[in-house]
Amino acid sequence: MPLHTGPEKPDERPRAVNPFYGEANPVGGMTEAPPQHRLPDGPLPPATAYQLVHDELMLDGNSRLNLATFVTTWMEPQAGVLMAECRDKNMIDKDEYPRTAELERRCVAMLADLWNAPDPSAAVGCSTTGSSEACMLAGMALKRRWAQANADRYPGARPNLVMGINVQVCWEKFCTFWEVEARQVPMEGDRFHLDPQAAAELCDENTIGVVGILGSTFDGSYEPIAELCAALDELQQRTGLDIPVHVDGASGAMVAPFLEEDLLWDFRLPRVASINTSGHKYGLVYPGVGWALWRSAAELPEELVFRVNYLGGDMPTFALNFSRPGAQVVAQYYTFLRLGREGYRAVQQTTRDVAMRLADRVEALGDFRLLTRGDQLPVFAFTTTPDVKAYDVFDVSRRMRERGWLVPAYTFPANRQDLSVLRVVCRNGFSSDLAELFAEDLGRLLPELRRQPHPLTHDKDSATGFHH
Ligand SMILES: *Cc1c(COP(=O)(O)O)cnc(C)c1O
Repeated sequence: MPLHTGPEKPDERPRAVNPFYGEANPVGGMTEAPPQHRLPDGPLPPATAYQLVHDELMLDGNSRLNLATFVTTWMEPQAGVLMAECRDKNMIDKDEYPRTAELERRCVAMLADLWNAPDPSAAVGCSTTGSSEACMLAGMALKRRWAQANADRYPGARPNLVMGINVQVCWEKFCTFWEVEARQVPMEGDRFHLDPQAAAELCDENTIGVVGILGSTFDGSYEPIAELCAALDELQQRTGLDIPVHVDGASGAMVAPFLEEDLLWDFRLPRVASINTSGHKYGLVYPGVGWALWRSAAELPEELVFRVNYLGGDMPTFALNFSRPGAQVVAQYYTFLRLGREGYRAVQQTTRDVAMRLADRVEALGDFRLLTRGDQLPVFAFTTTPDVKAYDVFDVSRRMRERGWLVPAYTFPANRQDLSVLRVVCRNGFSSDLAELFAEDLGRLLPELRRQPHPLTHDKDSATGFHH
């Protein structure tokens, strides 16, 4: 969320509204809009309030044309009905809503099985508001385990967390909020994510863990989790340092289990202590739900778990929030039940087919070089070829917006700040028909872009909008 401040100069001039809005008003109809930056003096009829809010929201974008976000923008009507039925349920109130709590428990068990926990009944986990909260919890568990093991030196010693520079912003937040040094492996050449060897070299006795990402928000590529674990095994043999790995599977933990069953990235790797995912990304649920799982109770220090009895019962919880909506958890369970493994496989395969075909189409236009091809996450990043001088990726982003498409353009972090890319995130609901329309719109734009005297987008930040 932006950190909001008040209006710079509140405009208190009366604003007219449609006189029909005030039909029921005995004084002859409402012709003046209520104030926007302070509470109105009195109530409005519900129909009027509804119309005012509804009308303003018409100017929000069309989420189906948004190729920037990873977050689910389409669910079946039945999911919507269930969510509406559960909108008053508070997830924390596990005593009043024991069945909702039970569905959460089943989702955790299903994910433990999906992610190959050696003993699914020993795995522990919880729902969260999204991957960001899940990553905070996983990072806190890593930090506390390290602090326990180093009680003789901590406080005093400064803990660090090793990761690629391509991590999602939640890891920078974790490090800032919980006072952990972020040790980041930069990009080099055509390597746009973590290098296992470089990560191992950054580790020392104060390293609480290494984060591996499946897959990177910058280009959709999977980080090599098995190689990362192997590099850390080798480090342990050499130095005795036993560094756990957390896998940030915000997107990929709901893709790889269905499309790459043989890829080793999950609890099959003994060094993987915990995994998170966003139920609201490729888990196919509306925002906001995420999941955090630990291999066993040993990976989650007991003192981080709270039991409160104010609401009756004393179910243990691990969360940053207290109250939280239960509807998304119910919707996650619905989706698991509805699709099963085969259904998820079909949906993710279709989405990936769309991504790979669209990546080929973009490449065939001739002006672009693909960095990724949509064959890991259904996400690809591309840039202009060196001989394109008349326009840049920011121009493409801005001009595609005129056609309603939201495609973010952004620069890469160190050491590839020279590289600016466009990224397309394909999601369930972005059909091959829509992808075809996208490719046609992009192709039609190129002759005009090629005629530009030089790149024209000056205000690069407002032209784009990179969504992690
Ligand atoms: C989206 C994302 C996050 C943050 O997830 P939210 O569910 O939006 O909080 C964290 N890590 C990665 C790799 C992501 O793609």
